[in-house]
Amino acid sequence: MARALGAQISLSVPVGSDSCIRTPASKGHNNLSFHHTSWVSTSLELKGRTIRSKYQYKVLCMSVQEARKSKVAVNPIELEDAKEPPLNLYKPKEPYTATIVSVERLVGPKAPGETCHIVIDHGGNVPYWEGQSYGIIPPGENPKKPGAPHNVRLYSIASTRYGDSFDGKTASLCVRRAVYYDPETGKEDSSKNGICSNFLCDSKPGDKVKLTGPSGKIMLLPEDDPNATHIMIATGTGIAPFRGYLRRMFMESVPKYKFGGLAWLFLGVANTDSLLYDDEFTSYLQDFPGNFRYDRALSREQRNKSGGKMYVQDKIEEYSDEIFKLLDEGAHIYFCGLKGMMPGIQNTLKRVAEQRGESWEEKLSQLRKNKQWHVEVY
Ligand code: FAD
Repeated sequence: MARALGAQISLSVPVGSDSCIRTPASKGHNNLSFHHTSWVSTSLELKGRTIRSKYQYKVLCMSVQEARKSKVAVNPIELEDAKEPPLNLYKPKEPYTATIVSVERLVGPKAPGETCHIVIDHGGNVPYWEGQSYGIIPPGENPKKPGAPHNVRLYSIASTRYGDSFDGKTASLCVRRAVYYDPETGKEDSSKNGICSNFLCDSKPGDKVKLTGPSGKIMLLPEDDPNATHIMIATGTGIAPFRGYLRRMFMESVPKYKFGGLAWLFLGVANTDSLLYDDEFTSYLQDFPGNFRYDRALSREQRNKSGGKMYVQDKIEEYSDEIFKLLDEGAHIYFCGLKGMMPGIQNTLKRVAEQRGESWEEKLSQLRKNKQWHVEVY
């Protein structure tokens, strides 16, 4: 919260909690190296970055607030020029060898499982658009095809085309470590842990990684109308494409895309410690209150109106009148995350439609026809 102090403006948030001067939302202890110097130094032009006294603290706060209103310059701006998105520039037989820049644990100690933010340096050679995915080929041999490499695993890209360092040379992924627990003993069986997600979450700066892609057109951000409404529903790592959209809308200064519409994010995770990029999103709420809404469903901490666990569909139901109105007015709606999220959401939307005297089947087919409905679940 900002408050006026005479002629000075100060912020009542601790300096370290401001998204402008910290690394992406990281919680808990991380024993992995993480280098985000370029992210920090290029993110915003802060004047009094070094804090040595209370006086300077105030100066820093002023700078933060001024800086919050400015967006970050990106380059090379030629990344805006193509009329079509890049597709499959690198294929499984000839992948691009990229380099890991950093791996950061995103979740706190009370989160069930681990999710990591992984920045990959592609040197500008594997360009992509927001909403696309990369393929990753983990090192080693495919157990099902001796002598052959592993199959490609897809990961939604969690950065804009300019990457977290705003120079078009990196891409970021948001990866959940797939861990196998024996259903009988409840113990982890590391021989059955997910190959690629563990490779990525265990990787170190400087490690090489084989990329394919980029792929996918379903989740591209439609930019023909910069004043459009975008309703984004994410569970867990499904947040990845939306982080990219939101950075493009609110963090970056992109000459060809001046967002003036409404972006409404619903994020479903287990608990507060599992929230992903929460500080980034919270800062948009402060800076763009008229253009951004952010609703969190914490299944293990919050209760829905029937006293059950709070899932994203419960949040959707809570705002169903507004959501249906926005859809009728042409809003885009996106879903990303685990496959299991869709049946609950579809049932809720169907129930709401029926309560409104509408046929969900007809509405859905209209939304699909109008290209307002975007789903990428895995
Ligand atoms: P695999 O090695 O493929 O194993 C798969 C599962 O089987 C694991 O849970 C593993 O524990 C289990 N398993 C392994 N061996 C056995 C066994 N013998 N018996 C029983 N179970 C076993 N994931 C993300 O984290 N972030 C993303 O942004 C993301 N985006 C995606 C986008 C798309 C379009 C798609 C299709 C998928 C996306 N995924 C994403 C999922 C990702 O592609 C992988 O499927 C996921 O990371 C698991 O891959 P893995 O190699 O770690 O696991």
